[in-house]
Amino acid sequence: MEEVKKKIAILGSTGSIGTQALEVIEEHAEKFQVEVLTTNTNADLLIEQAIKFKPNAVVIVDETQYQKVSEALWKHDIKTYTGKEALAQVVEMKEIDVVLTALVGYAGLLPTINAIKAKKTIALANKETLVVAGELITKLATENGVHIYPVDSEHSAIFQCLVGEILNPIEKIYLTASGGPFRGKKRDELQNITKEQALKHPNWEMGAKITIDSATLMNKGLEVIEAKWLFNLKPEQIDVIVHPQSIVHSLVQFTDGSMKAQMGLPDMKLPIQYALTYPYRFPSKSPRFNFMDYPNLTFEKPDLETFKNLKLAYEALEKGGNLACILNAANEVAVDAFLHDKIKFLQIADINEQCMNAVKFVKNPSYKDFVTTDLETRKFAESLI
Ligand code: MN
Repeated sequence: MEEVKKKIAILGSTGSIGTQALEVIEEHAEKFQVEVLTTNTNADLLIEQAIKFKPNAVVIVDETQYQKVSEALWKHDIKTYTGKEALAQVVEMKEIDVVLTALVGYAGLLPTINAIKAKKTIALANKETLVVAGELITKLATENGVHIYPVDSEHSAIFQCLVGEILNPIEKIYLTASGGPFRGKKRDELQNITKEQALKHPNWEMGAKITIDSATLMNKGLEVIEAKWLFNLKPEQIDVIVHPQSIVHSLVQFTDGSMKAQMGLPDMKLPIQYALTYPYRFPSKSPRFNFMDYPNLTFEKPDLETFKNLKLAYEALEKGGNLACILNAANEVAVDAFLHDKIKFLQIADINEQCMNAVKFVKNPSYKDFVTTDLETRKFAESLI
């Protein structure tokens, strides 16, 4: 009997996670069928991917490139769409089983909401969705009986440690952080950091936005918030520990004091694959960890004075409401400005802090409040640049 293939939609197929997801799918072609691919602007790669994986439909968000994509793909019998609305709606196609959300930033929110309403399983690589609207998203997922499987390596580690522990409460979790390229540096050493320096991550190869977020520790701050919503934890149950080798991907501590960790070489294909194959583990040819290559695994405390973004994230978590949405929007604007040489490295966290103090706080935000908060914060952040 032929096995039924899992039908996958990849939102953001031309980015770092998207391209690695397609490698995973190619290695297990008998198990998966690509149903939808989307990109923001990378028409050439989208066309190449579509011809190779033969999805039912593709979306290019950038409308100026629509004609190019549709001309290239109509003879392959692939439907082509364009625009933000198409991106938000394409997840509702009835053939799709799993939506992998690999979009960057706030843009992931609406497509994810629509995918949950359409009862699609979510493989979540877009952490900003849970940062911005974690309460709304988790509630919606529960109401629709939808599972959200984490792709973020730390959260995948926690998720893997929790298999078989359904009856056992979590005492706390430790999210590991590499510390980024500037670990051990103080504020005065970071005054004149260039984007080229900040874009050199020691262990992981990722997109530009998340690489800058790793250098400022904002990424770990966003991950603390993401963990709260994924695993239903209180802020004091989430600890961050710097682990420069990135071998221990995160840990869970249970009420008897036992700790479980998930380990391996830093390789995003593992958490991507696990989110697509859970509860099964499929074979992988990725290189194996060798203890003798890493005789010393080390751990240290994060420096919250130098990297105050992490402190801001805990503050957003404690106060709740729309504060994490404010922090996220401010950070998206500030990182973009830094990547365009408009502000200095340390100003990223300053702008985030100023926005959290200035933009109107809403205690119980609706979806509309998040949209307004995001817009207002972006406007205010721009005025600071
Ligand atoms: Mn991560």
